[in-house]
Amino acid sequence: MRAMGHIRNVLLHERISSDTETSTSIERQDEKLHQRAAEDGVNVVGVAVDRSVSGEVDLYRRPELAPWLSEEYRGDWNELWVTNQDRLSRSDIHVMAFVFRCLEWGKEIVILDDPEFTQQMKTPEGRVILHAKSLGPAKELERIKARCADAHEWRRKTTRWPGGIPTFGYVPYKVMEDGKSATYIKLDEDMLTVLHDMKHRMAVIGDTFSGVTMWLNKNQVLTARDRARIRAGKPPGRLNKGTGEYVLERWSETTVAELLTNEALLGYKKHKGEVIIGSDGKPLKIAEAAFDSDEWDELQAACQARRITFQRRTNRANPKYGVVFCGGCRKGGTHSQVKWKDRHYRYYRCNGSHALRCEGHTVDAAEADKVMEETFLRELGHERVVKRVFQPGEDHTKELEQVRKHIKRLQAEKDRAKDWDEEDEAEYEERLDALRARRNELKKLPQRKAGWVAQRLKTTYREAWEQGDDNARRKLLISAGFRFEILDNRTEVPWMIQIPMDLLAEISGEARDSTRVILPCTLVA
Ligand SMILES: [Zn+2]
Repeated sequence: MRAMGHIRNVLLHERISSDTETSTSIERQDEKLHQRAAEDGVNVVGVAVDRSVSGEVDLYRRPELAPWLSEEYRGDWNELWVTNQDRLSRSDIHVMAFVFRCLEWGKEIVILDDPEFTQQMKTPEGRVILHAKSLGPAKELERIKARCADAHEWRRKTTRWPGGIPTFGYVPYKVMEDGKSATYIKLDEDMLTVLHDMKHRMAVIGDTFSGVTMWLNKNQVLTARDRARIRAGKPPGRLNKGTGEYVLERWSETTVAELLTNEALLGYKKHKGEVIIGSDGKPLKIAEAAFDSDEWDELQAACQARRITFQRRTNRANPKYGVVFCGGCRKGGTHSQVKWKDRHYRYYRCNGSHALRCEGHTVDAAEADKVMEETFLRELGHERVVKRVFQPGEDHTKELEQVRKHIKRLQAEKDRAKDWDEEDEAEYEERLDALRARRNELKKLPQRKAGWVAQRLKTTYREAWEQGDDNARRKLLISAGFRFEILDNRTEVPWMIQIPMDLLAEISGEARDSTRVILPCTLVA
């Protein structure tokens, strides 16, 4: 801890890597650093702002920062502040070398996003942790550099960019070809880093679409559209006519989900939402992929798993959310609690829907819960739990279809041609051979639709029920396909329960919607 009364002379360091990274990023760093400096009441002796300086450039070679590290000006500061480690350096070697140098000089490094950094740099154990932390960005950088490199190489093999804003991760660039300007797209280092952060959150940390969305908005990560505005020399965001200020475009869960599952991130060209197949019968690649195939599969599996919970999230307070439905309109029933004369009453109810011609139904929740438990254990208790496992698909049907279409088109072209010569014939044969080879290759690949496969666990439903809390039980009911419908409580059939006849067969797609219906009268009988 720092001694009281000691004057803290602080040097702020801000950095952006390239012109494509926006200048607002500098403004954000500046704002954060100054805000914190004001909060801590320190003396800011200077601000070293390095623009267009990559994170791999050693700190001593940064035009603005370097003088502050020289013997002449070193005495002016005793703490160096940055917003995050990335701004300090993307190279583990540079980070560690700088840490040792600062120790020698008796200076501290403060990283706002990593409050432990300052203490960790002072002990050997802490420095081991720092080194591990700095390896993250370093490794990432190697990969990012490899991917961004050699856009030139790509150009020769690929086709041009037709215009419009490329998918987040890519930027258009122009070159002169035969005296004319041509546009292609390439990966952008800054956006690629964001994409990999998103993937890390989804696949490694286990964050949700909404968590990733919040993180993007909180850090004011610019959207593809706002970046395009900056490239065009305009301010990012939309003008709010009331305040006269530009408001950055916000990320939504839908855009995040769409982006992370978009095959354009594999560098494929798309048209009207479909991947275009090239003349060699393979998806037409127009840029380097943002993720390699393993990373992509991992990301897709994580996205699929999130989509399921995405839809089941909204009504947490309802202990039977996803199990109780209205029999009139099929909407999910809501759970409500009422206090009357010191007693609590709970209901599952549908408030009715004029559009769906439902007059609304209600059932006593305590009673319904009891019926559900009894029925579930009686009907399924002895059976072993069926677990759904999501299997990412291996589906080449669309691609195969497109290759077949190409072959037909090619044949039609030949049929139509009037002056077909030997050269045409040779070219035709070559293209046809390539397409047929691709077709046969695709036919041989396993065609498996992405979807759920069922597995029986060792545990029975009764055992799982007894071990679980309310939420685990709710999930168990959902996974067993158990459904409770609220009917009319003025009649003899105030509710009904549906259970799949053979869940295993249903999940594997061998049987369809064969349900067993249980009514109150069946219980009596
Ligand atoms: Zn209803």
